[in-house]
Amino acid sequence: MTEDLNPHHVARRQFDLATPFVGDLDGWRGMAEWLFQPEKIVSVTLPVEMDDGYVHTFLGYRVVHNTVRGPGKGGIRFHPSVDEDEVKALATWMTWKCALVDIPFGGAKGGVNCDATALSENEKRRIARRFIAALGDNIGPHTDIPAPDMYTDAQTMVWIYDTYHMMHPGENSLPVVTGKPLDLGGIPGRSTATARGVFFAAEHFIEIGAMPGISSLDGARVAIQGYGNAGRHAARIFRDAGATIVAVSDSRGGVHDPNGLDLTRVAAHKDEAGTVVGALGDGKLTPGEILEVECEILIPAAMENQITADNAGRVQAQLIVEAANGPTTPTADEILAERDIKVLPDILANAGGVVVSYFEWIQNLQNEQWEEHQVDELLAKKMRRATEAVVTERVALCEGLDEYRTRWQERVPDAPTLPAPTFRTAATAVAVGRTKATAEARGVWP
Ligand code: NAD
Repeated sequence: MTEDLNPHHVARRQFDLATPFVGDLDGWRGMAEWLFQPEKIVSVTLPVEMDDGYVHTFLGYRVVHNTVRGPGKGGIRFHPSVDEDEVKALATWMTWKCALVDIPFGGAKGGVNCDATALSENEKRRIARRFIAALGDNIGPHTDIPAPDMYTDAQTMVWIYDTYHMMHPGENSLPVVTGKPLDLGGIPGRSTATARGVFFAAEHFIEIGAMPGISSLDGARVAIQGYGNAGRHAARIFRDAGATIVAVSDSRGGVHDPNGLDLTRVAAHKDEAGTVVGALGDGKLTPGEILEVECEILIPAAMENQITADNAGRVQAQLIVEAANGPTTPTADEILAERDIKVLPDILANAGGVVVSYFEWIQNLQNEQWEEHQVDELLAKKMRRATEAVVTERVALCEGLDEYRTRWQERVPDAPTLPAPTFRTAATAVAVGRTKATAEARGVWP
């Protein structure tokens, strides 16, 4: 049977697994459908003049999934995989992520279907500007606030800010986008925030004893797929905490040394050659092989659908910490659960980026400049609290499983037996429960 890898279908499956565990089932009255469907989908056609004079037509999307808890928030990516369903899924995960770390945002996401690796800086600038102009007032400091994601960075955020500001002169437009450079309203620690959040979640998960078999990050072997903003910083941060980084990879392949990589050499090679491949001479990996390397902790930090029905049976890690969004499919989740491999889900593990984006947004609204230690302390607090909420929820759901199963059977007599909740299901249940509670308090308008 071929696996359904459509990201929006994956998001739906995760939602459907979690909703039976959200309290007060009778109160749903159709709300589940409302909470799952995206609020707004904008698709735009972008004619962009390339450096050789050719006019290429790109497609761009911005989806606001849900604004019950606050304005839309979510990154913009430049990648050939971008389409409406991918952006819808990513926006949905943003809603749950913001609710889980308890920041007053809803979920949104955007992207342009393009291969950023084949574009010049000027072409990327023209795409970014045209995209933001086309979106117009679909984004705004109090409606929908973009940020960086795959193949976009602080420079892209400057173009976004500048384009928006040209269309809104005389206003404070800084809070319209986060992930900006320090010289333009950026906050210290934003570029490392996602990786630091991944680290705080993993560290605390181990600290509170949720990971039998691993007592500390010190000495743990870690493999990381993806060597961009999330993966590269994660490698350094985990190494600094005493972990041994045994493998890293990017889109072209990876490097592996069971005794630990020399990260300075890997980083220098990446900067020079544009890939980590070849940094060590030997020890090369194909992009897929990294997921099967012998290690205690695996950090997927690239993109969706990497751990699938095909390879989940060969993962050797005991703990997977999802820096990427959607790297594990629902079937892979089942296989990993059967093998007792724990997964710290994306909506928890990679939330550090949006948490610090929230701090940047506050800073910009108040025309303030935060200190890096403030950012780091508050980020650690948010990540630890959310990690505890997920662990506690999972314990409670497992304890009440028989009752949840009975109630679910009564409600949907044909439904298969409710699977035992994973950490992803627990995290989603917390997030959906909070969003539902806010929606109920606000009521259905009019
Ligand atoms: P990035 O563009 O900085 O880096 C992406 C990395 O993934 C690159 O090293 C690229 O070579 C690699 N890659 C791409 N396809 C690959 C493949 N098939 N196999 C192996 N490596 C591959 O992007 P990023 O910002 O680090 O984002 C990575 C993931 O983290 C995405 O899923 C993104 O949604 C998620 N994320 C990012 C942030 C953030 O703040 N940047 C926040 C939360 C989640």
